[in-house]
Amino acid sequence: SKKAEILNVPIDAITMKEAIRKVTSFVEGDTLKKVYTPNPEIVMLAQENKELDRIVKEADLVVPDGIGLIIASKLKSKGLIERVTGVDLMHHLLLYCASNHKSIYIMGGKPGVAEMAVTNIAAKYKGINIAGFRDGYYKQEETESVINDINQSGADVLFVCLGAPRQEIWIDKHKDQLKCKVAMGVGGSVDIHAG
Ligand code: UDP
Repeated sequence: SKKAEILNVPIDAITMKEAIRKVTSFVEGDTLKKVYTPNPEIVMLAQENKELDRIVKEADLVVPDGIGLIIASKLKSKGLIERVTGVDLMHHLLLYCASNHKSIYIMGGKPGVAEMAVTNIAAKYKGINIAGFRDGYYKQEETESVINDINQSGADVLFVCLGAPRQEIWIDKHKDQLKCKVAMGVGGSVDIHAG
């Protein structure tokens, strides 16, 4: 889709409806798609962090989660249409997964939080398949076993909740190993679902 360049960071200029259509089509695809939901802080960070800049540019979908991005876009006539938050997009993706018996894995949050989140999600989104969960505070040397667990779970969708930009860097680093169809960085959403 059309991109809006906010301080040279390309953000998809799409509505929530279009973002939902896109992300759900990714679930039915056969290669990993990377979805990020940056706020203005990430756009600022990408100005000085070349790696983050490349990572965002290589994403399959980048939705404008911060109202500041919409304001910046309107001021400069950059073409963003409306705010598409990670929390809202995740909600719609969970609805799709529930209706289509797709499986999800949540990685991130303090110990116990991801488990609470998937428990609440299973109750709220009937029909969804919970493939697994993992907190976001394991040791560096445990990363391979975490990735094995995610892959063996057979999850269609992986929500990575390590905060930005840690989650975007994590997804990028492991993109060639991950077998899921969608890896989406959604920060504090794990805490919201944990209630
Ligand atoms: N987090 C994590 N591992 C870390 C650092 C943070 O799992 O090493 C989690 C933290 O517990 C929280 C989530 O990342 O659940 C998002 O944090 P924050 O709200 O600060 O990030 P944002 O949503 O603003 O990007």
